[in-house]
Amino acid sequence: MKYLLAACLLLVSSFCCATPSQDEAQALREFHDTLWLVSESDPRLLQLNADFRELVKATGVTLPLKLEVTSTPLIGHSFPGGVIVVQVDLASLPRAQRMLVLGHELGHQVLGHFASAFAFLDNNSQLFTNQAAEDNPAWRTFLHQQEYDADAYAVHCLHLLGLPLADAVPIFEVYADADESLTHPATKARIARMRQLN
Ligand SMILES: [Zn+2]
Repeated sequence: MKYLLAACLLLVSSFCCATPSQDEAQALREFHDTLWLVSESDPRLLQLNADFRELVKATGVTLPLKLEVTSTPLIGHSFPGGVIVVQVDLASLPRAQRMLVLGHELGHQVLGHFASAFAFLDNNSQLFTNQAAEDNPAWRTFLHQQEYDADAYAVHCLHLLGLPLADAVPIFEVYADADESLTHPATKARIARMRQLN
């Protein structure tokens, strides 16, 4: 079974009782509540925490951040407020692949993607009135651009750490969906853009 490399936003297809961004934030909180945390003494958690500390130090990012190592079915994703969630199995992958995922999620936080996505939803609520969000090309394009930008940040992180992109790319073969989705561009397109930056 393949998973998305990193889902940054869950989809709320109908908005009923609050602003679109409030509904989206609520959906994210509910999803976050379904995840269980790995024990603090688990060596896989210790490995990923060490990786993340090294990455944050290399980038010089000073945002308040929290890494959570969990049961999540996705290899990595983010939540508002600097929370980055990774699947515990990430610890068993090669260093370049771990840093690609962590760098991608750090990119979502550094680039302020939740704030801009929430603003997009609130400023474009008319786009979702009569149409499922999945079918909304403007929303799809907006989300795909965020993924490309987070990928570019991840490539920047690999450069800082002296890690070859070629060593990191194989993670897409295992964890990313080949075809594009509402939230993510097709894997081939993402890899091609990262190689252009490299
Ligand atoms: Zn992402």
